[in-house]
Amino acid sequence: MRYIDPHAHMISRTTDDYERMALAGCVAMTEPAFWAGFDRSSAAGFRDYFRHLTEFEPRRAARYGIRHHTWLCINPKESEDVGLARAVLAIIPEFLGAPSVLGIGEIGLNKNTRNELTILEEHLALAKKHGQLVLVHTPHLEDKLKGTRLILDAVRAAGVEPGRVLIDHVEEHTVRLVLDRGFWAGMTLYPQTKCTPQRAVDIIECYGAERLWMNSACDWGESDPLAVPKAAMEFRRRGHAPDLIDRVVFRNPKSFLSQSPKFSLPPGVE
Ligand SMILES: [Zn+2]
Repeated sequence: MRYIDPHAHMISRTTDDYERMALAGCVAMTEPAFWAGFDRSSAAGFRDYFRHLTEFEPRRAARYGIRHHTWLCINPKESEDVGLARAVLAIIPEFLGAPSVLGIGEIGLNKNTRNELTILEEHLALAKKHGQLVLVHTPHLEDKLKGTRLILDAVRAAGVEPGRVLIDHVEEHTVRLVLDRGFWAGMTLYPQTKCTPQRAVDIIECYGAERLWMNSACDWGESDPLAVPKAAMEFRRRGHAPDLIDRVVFRNPKSFLSQSPKFSLPPGVE
């Protein structure tokens, strides 16, 4: 089996996790910028983080034959501090030319506040100006449906094409809205919260596989770097065809990500 994990916070994971993912068939991954578990005290901390994402992780992944790409932003949680967020936004263009950067992400909303929305709009303007793909985080703490609607409206107002935007962490009550408006949707497979592998397969069975992908979003919390191959196992257990599985775990993420000319796969992987 071959697969892409399009949302993995490998900065939080060990090298053993890279090895286990490679053994399970992972050929590429993308790593969005996110919250470190504490609020960073300065924009300089983000510059170091962006260097880590663009320099160190691609080398670590390459040792296991995995192609590593990344997305840059200040996450919605720290965006509450508008001054800090604007200082970080000013740094991002320095890194947009790096060979593994695919776009802006994971931006979005956390508690659906006015400040978060302001910084979301400024990230979208940056993506538009530089022709970048966008990866969006939808809220878990506050109303996900309301937050998702606010985000989709903000993308439209910014003039960013929906087909170049992936709305992540969709669940049963948000997936249709996202797909109907022309966006891509991501299902995050978490052991406890968000979406389990079983629920993700249910969603594909209800809505089809067009413009949908799955990711582990593995990070420093309770999460599983092997969640995507485990969902593939659930597809097989239910008797789904290998072609459908390959589409969801490999061809779909490849299609979306290939809109960036920088997305690439290891030699020999079609
Ligand atoms: Zn994430």
